[in-house]
Order: sequence, then structure tokens, then C-alpha cells
Amino acid sequence: MINFDFNQNCYGCRNCENICPKEAIKITENNEGFLMPIIDKDKCINCGLCDKICPYLNFKNNTDLKKKIWYSCYWNDIKGRNESTSGGIFPVLAKYFLDNNGLVCGCIWNEEMKPIHILTNNIEEVNKMKGSKYLQSDISNVAKQIKEKINDRIILFTGTPCQIAAVKLFVGEHKNLYTCGLICEGVPSYKVWKKYVNSLEKKYNSKMKQASFRNKELGWDSPVAKYKFDNGKERKTLSFTYDKYVIGFLQGLYYRNSCSNCQYKGDGHNSDILIGDLWGATKQQLEETKYKGISAVILNSDKGKDLFEKVENNFSYKKIVPEKVIKYNRLLIQAIKKNKNRDKFYENLDNMDIIQNISKNINENKYKNFIKEVLYKTKVFRLVKDLKK
Ligand SMILES: Cc1cc2nc3c(=O)[nH]c(=O)nc-3n(C[C@H](O)[C@H](O)[C@H](O)COP(=O)(O)OP(=O)(O)OC[C@H]3O[C@@H](n4cnc5c(N)ncnc54)[C@H](O)[C@@H]3O)c2cc1C
Repeated sequence: MINFDFNQNCYGCRNCENICPKEAIKITENNEGFLMPIIDKDKCINCGLCDKICPYLNFKNNTDLKKKIWYSCYWNDIKGRNESTSGGIFPVLAKYFLDNNGLVCGCIWNEEMKPIHILTNNIEEVNKMKGSKYLQSDISNVAKQIKEKINDRIILFTGTPCQIAAVKLFVGEHKNLYTCGLICEGVPSYKVWKKYVNSLEKKYNSKMKQASFRNKELGWDSPVAKYKFDNGKERKTLSFTYDKYVIGFLQGLYYRNSCSNCQYKGDGHNSDILIGDLWGATKQQLEETKYKGISAVILNSDKGKDLFEKVENNFSYKKIVPEKVIKYNRLLIQAIKKNKNRDKFYENLDNMDIIQNISKNINENKYKNFIKEVLYKTKVFRLVKDLKK
């Protein structure tokens, strides 16, 4: 029976719940809103299955990540890429699976603005997977669904590195299973995000129906947070400097504790293809991509290499040295340090207004950020940014 400090180390993948033959493990939200196992010892028969598929207990280092193939890469279809968060690598991979009678498993918003994983062969649902949802997605029982179908179809699973590990442990190595992992700094809980959504819904007097944390209207390097409501209203602000939720996310204010202890970093990554943003892209690269996004792509296994070769004519790509990627994306190789205000933030989660709680616990230069927001609202932000460069 799994037995370790869940609060510090459990990744919330639900593998234990999904494997238990006696339904002795239930996954429930803790006070912070993170999914954690609760074990009914009376029902447990000590079969040990949960121990065997837990990504915390079964971590294994992969081989040297820096020795793999590293590319800067973007999808040539500029309209398609514009709808993705980074260089639009995921939709190209996904299309290959749909075109070859395969299935795709990834994350969409459900009606309650909760990120959930689904398994599908429907292009419209796959399109909803585009865009990073910056909080933990509930992967429910998709690993079980994948296991049931994997003998008959090729399947692409996309998700955070801990989710990749979970699915691989549950399904086992299988020639039909392909995995595309995201470089991941950490995941907040749904409870935090839901409180933020509720506060915006109150302000706009309407239910939120769409959220994009990284809209590219100003370019990939200056993301806009865009929220749409049922009554037709829209809220748009500079994402990294004016959207309180995103600022708190980037400062690691509300990550799961396991993110600070994450083992799936650097050589721990075990997806076939690993993708993320190419932060630190040069001005030349920004211009070449028309400011619509560029990715770092790491081909981490032979399977990943084969898959990339099948779709490479959709991409513009070049070899890049790992150091150039890592320099601007340290969390690719190391877990994020726990934010010193994290616990204080969560202590007040139920009794303080969410915006107030975030504002009290983040570092921000309000004056500078306000000026940037004014420049954005007056439509000169991009111009001023380019002139400054
Ligand atoms: C929580 C989180 C943290 C991240 N941190 C970093 C980082 O520190 N550095 C970095 O370079 N990149 C990070 N990324 C990855 C980056 O934001 C892009 O998702 C990635 O580059 C893919 O871009 P794309 O244009 O190819 O995909 P898109 O077409 O935008 O597709 C998005 C893909 O992400 C998946 N996805 C979306 N939200 C989630 C979620 N909540 N959980 C699991 N899967 C999800 C979808 O299923 C889909 O496969 C993070 C992503 C997430 C979700």
C-alpha cells in the first residue's frame, strides 16, 4: 500500500485509484485544492499494485538529456501557430495521429473552466487542447482508457512530465504509445484558479467561457491574458505583468508541493518528444517567425526521432545547443524553489479575497506594470518595446 508523505510528494496522477482492485483508494481535493489519495485500510488487501505504478515511488533517470537532439522549431502554418501557445508543435503531431487512425490524449477546459484530459479522435476536441492551461489538469482515468485501446490504435499522450511518467507506468512500454511532454515549471490547484474565475465572473456579471493565458495579438514574446464571458464581454490585459493569476503562477506562489520536489527534470524527463518555449529567441528568430511563436524541441528517444521525421516537413527547424535553451529555461533541469509566501497564501485561501491574497504575496513593480498596461491599452506597447530594443 502506498505510504509516503503525500502532501510533499504525491503528483496527483490518480494511478493508485485507477489500479486498486478493491476501490480502497479515493482521490479527493485537500484544503489547498490538490488531488490526494485517501486509503481505506479496511478495504486494502496489500496487493502492492499501487506501489508499482506510482510515479513518485518508481522514478528512474533516463539517459543524458543534453546528448539528445535539440531543435529550435516552429510550425510553418502561421495561422495555425497563432492559435497555439508556443511554436505549434503539438497540433502537427496530433494531426499525424488523427490522419493515421490514431487517438490523441490532451488537456481541454471543461464547462466549469476546469482543465481535464480527454482521449479522442475528433479534430474539434483536439483543437481545444491547443493553448497552455496554467494549472493542474485532472487526468481522471485516461490512462485506463489508453490501456484498453493501445493494442489497436496508435496513441499520442501529451502532458506534464509527471503525467507522462504516470501514463507510461500504467500502460507499460508499448510500441503504439507515443508521448509528448511539456517543459513544466509547476502546477497550481484548480481551487485557486476557480476562485480567480469566480472573482472575474462577479466583476463581469457573467460566466467565463474561454481563457487564454498567452494570446499572441502583440506577439508571442508579449502575451496577453484574454478571458471571454457569456454576455459577450472580454477582459484583456498584459499577461506577465498585469494579470494577477499569471503573475502568481510565474512566481510559483501556488504550485503543488511535489513541484518543488519534482524528480522529472533534466535527465528525469522520459517523454519521446519534449517541447517548450524557446525563451531567449533572438530578434532575428522573432522576426523570422513573425512574432507568432517558437519552440524548443528535444527528441528524447528513437521513437520521438521517428515521429518527428514523419512530420518534419511541416516545420522550420535548426539544431540548437542545449545551453541556449537551458539558460532561459532553468526549470527544464531543476525543480522550482518553494515560494516563501506559498503557505501563507494557502492559509488565507478560504478567508481572503483572491485578488487581495495574490497581491499581498507577489513581488511586483506596480508603477512600471501600470505604465506598460497603459501603453497596451493605448495600442503603442509593441511599438515602444521594439523601439527600446
Ligand atoms: C502547467 C504548464 C507549465 C509550463 N511551464 C513551461 C515552462 O516553464 N517553460 C516552457 O518552456 N514551457 C512551459 N510550458 C509549455 C508551454 O507553455 C507550451 O505548452 C508548450 O511549449 C507547447 O506549445 P505548443 O504551441 O506546441 O502547443 P499548443 O498547441 O499550445 O498545445 C498545448 C499542449 O499542452 C497541453 N496542455 C495544456 N494545458 C495543460 C495542462 N494544464 N496540463 C497538461 N497538459 C496541458 C495540451 O494537451 C496540448 O498538448 C508549460 C505548460 C504548462 C501546461
